Amino acid sequence: MSVLSTPYSFTPKNYVSSSISQDDTAPTSKAGYLKSLEALQVPVPPFFVISYKRPLTFEALQEEIAILEKKSGKLWNDVTSGQDGLFVSVRSSFKVSMPGMLDSLLNVGLSFNHARLVNQDYLWRSYVKLIRNYAYLVEKIDAQTFPELPKEATLEDALKAETIFQEKTGYAFPQNANEQLIQAMNMVHKSWDNPRAQAYRLHENIGSTSGVDVIVQTMVFGNLNSKSGTGILFTRNPSTGEKEIFGEYSRQVQGEEIVSGSLTPSPLQVLEQDLPCAYKILRDIALQLEYAFLDMQDIEFTIENGKLWILQTRSGKRTKTAELRILIQYVEEGILTMEDALRRLSLQGLEQVYHPYLEHSNGLEYLGKGLGASPGAVSGILATRQDTAIAFIKSGKRVIFAAQETHCDDVASILGAAGVITATGGMTCHGAVVTRGLGKPCVTSLSGLKVHQDSVEISGQRISEGTALTIDGTAGTVWKGEGILKVPEQCEALQKFLCFSHRTSALEVYVNADTPEDWKAASAFNPKGVGLCRSEHMFFQSTHLSWFQGWVLGIQEALCISHIRHLQEEDYTRLLRQVQGKCFTVRLLDPPLHEFLPHTAEAERVLAQKLNVSVETINTRTAALKENNPMLGQRGCRLGIVRPELYDLQVQALFKAAVQVHQEGIPVDLRIMVPFVMIPKEFIILKQRITQWGLQYNLEKSSWMVGVMIEIPSAALQACDLAQEADFICFGTNDLTQMVLGVSRDDTAPMIQEYQSLKMLSVDPFQTIHQASVGKLISLACEAILKINPHIPLSVCGEHGGDPESMRFFHTLGIQAVSCSAYRIAKAYLAGAQIMLEKKAYSLDTSSLQSLYIA
Ligand code: ADP
Ligand code: MG
Ligand code: MG
Repeated sequence: MSVLSTPYSFTPKNYVSSSISQDDTAPTSKAGYLKSLEALQVPVPPFFVISYKRPLTFEALQEEIAILEKKSGKLWNDVTSGQDGLFVSVRSSFKVSMPGMLDSLLNVGLSFNHARLVNQDYLWRSYVKLIRNYAYLVEKIDAQTFPELPKEATLEDALKAETIFQEKTGYAFPQNANEQLIQAMNMVHKSWDNPRAQAYRLHENIGSTSGVDVIVQTMVFGNLNSKSGTGILFTRNPSTGEKEIFGEYSRQVQGEEIVSGSLTPSPLQVLEQDLPCAYKILRDIALQLEYAFLDMQDIEFTIENGKLWILQTRSGKRTKTAELRILIQYVEEGILTMEDALRRLSLQGLEQVYHPYLEHSNGLEYLGKGLGASPGAVSGILATRQDTAIAFIKSGKRVIFAAQETHCDDVASILGAAGVITATGGMTCHGAVVTRGLGKPCVTSLSGLKVHQDSVEISGQRISEGTALTIDGTAGTVWKGEGILKVPEQCEALQKFLCFSHRTSALEVYVNADTPEDWKAASAFNPKGVGLCRSEHMFFQSTHLSWFQGWVLGIQEALCISHIRHLQEEDYTRLLRQVQGKCFTVRLLDPPLHEFLPHTAEAERVLAQKLNVSVETINTRTAALKENNPMLGQRGCRLGIVRPELYDLQVQALFKAAVQVHQEGIPVDLRIMVPFVMIPKEFIILKQRITQWGLQYNLEKSSWMVGVMIEIPSAALQACDLAQEADFICFGTNDLTQMVLGVSRDDTAPMIQEYQSLKMLSVDPFQTIHQASVGKLISLACEAILKINPHIPLSVCGEHGGDPESMRFFHTLGIQAVSCSAYRIAKAYLAGAQIMLEKKAYSLDTSSLQSLYIA
């Protein structure tokens, strides 16, 4: 091993195993796909894989290289013959695709002497690139240290690069192929811990425990001659899911330049014109691969002197809309069943389907156009540096991040930014792939864009950090100013999934709707009904507010009450009409009263005038209502008991509206819900009063119910008594989480984030139910309730209602329904259907096992 010069980190203990025969490559890893490609007889340059679990001895490595030599007919480490040598790429492989996050090195094994003997342009260029990238990746020397890579490199350029390398590292660029190879392997192995891979893993919830396998693959040269080039192809349009080959191609370049986004490639049609035969083979392979893996493929290929080589395939990153459409197409083509399509659908990021778009560009200044690399429109302020981007984001601003290249080094900024613009890079470079996967609008190759330290220049105009911009990642346009964004119509593929899920969901899904507008927005998603109408939201309307404030402050009470009564009758009549007989659940007034009081001097003045009292009166009465801890103060049903007139009013208005709507021939399913119950007695008293009103209005008993909201731990602990009294029970998991965990939702977001990053909390308990505490309490309560009253409707309303993981848990407790905001209904239904499918799969499995056993 004397051939190996210093510095050299290879120690035999790093590479201990002598055999790679044991195959533990994950099928979804780059290496796994390469193996599948080989099996499918797709042209792949010969390669071998070294598992991170089982490194090789030096001798075993040599044996593998010898096999490559045999397969490729080229010689390794050959500096004398002047023949076409064997060079390799050293690539990373991990079970989950992390596009561009790990490092790879091309042209490994190439030496000065070899390049000199062959003396061809492409080889000199490849050699210079090897030195630069090796310096950057192995020795962490800034690529800027080297002069710009010339289009046609020569011996002089190589000498120059060698000199710089030696100056910076203190040793000569290694000429021995084995030394280059081992250093590159160590480097790829270690790139698992580079900052962008770490950031990406954290964001994508990829654990940090297992490492990277290394692929060593025979190089093919996309830069060999004019009949060579490199490209990337998606078997579908990754933005829309449309069934069309979508790709890019660059003549006479090596692949890493395309994937790194450092140059702007041409559309794939260029290849079709240049090399129609290779293009046709590529198309056929693309189709073959999509059906072999039954998923849209993202394919990297290189053409060397007219011959096509496939270098990688993987399941392609796509927008949510595209994902939905592709799956529905498979269903319609009869390739997948609806059940399987739904099982494959990931609900993460489903909200993306409602990507906002720019309604019109009035008031905006057009800055330029690039490639619409990731769809959707967004407004935000410009940041060009990572630290400013992060500072803006921390201060709650939305950031449009601008970068010269669509480079993955900026991943921390990209992850936090609302949108991304870049000067170079195409639609398939890693930056574009990442933003599309994240559902963030991105415009690449924005023409005339130059990115400076703290500003950008677009077509000659200088724009500094902090300036408002609007980008449209669908059209690829960029504007100065903040645009008006609109939310799109329904996605047809989503509707098809929804349609199926309505029938199969394990849980019923209701909507939280406070106004007829809310209901209208929700009805496209077909909720079962209104699961939560927060009556107080009506009081914030300008028509209601001052009368309500008058009542709160005890000024002109009778007058105020009569106004509110009238308004509430109207409110409920309209809503009951609109829901057309679907269930309508109203929560009686819940929040502390001070929330409704005027907060500014001006507002106080206006109110004083309206109620015909002095500002001082308003002031003193407001002060008297002040609570030190309003969250736990006089609110909810406590107010219903101590100041009963408002609950009475609300209940009467509800019954009156119900009678009215009923007379109009519209069926009524009214559910009155009492919030913030602490002890059963509260509910008993209020239910009695509500029932009396109900009898007075002479409404059929089957059309209304009185239920209780369990949101205080005390109520959960006495659920058994409540179950005897209530017609239905709803868990208010937002308040319950606050009170069980003792954390305030409004004040602790930074702490919760910190706890999550310290891995003290695996999820945000306000998004996903904290099973060990809140979950346990709900579980105890459900058990007690169902023992007493097995048929009682049990539901959850709160953020958790639309969260798939929480829903899965609720379902196991016997909870039958959730209520969530309009834009989460779709996700909730789909999650409900997936939960049902999981159950089905489980029961199917056991039955087939049993029959096997019997047989
Ligand atoms: P990443 O995981 O970042 O995509 P890859 O291992 O795919 O890294 O390598 C990046 C690019 O380098 C590939 O897209 C391909 O174009 C090029 N490349 C890798 N191996 C070879 C090879 N054996 N011959 C030619 N080009 C290669
Ligand atoms: Mg790749
Ligand atoms: Mg509450």
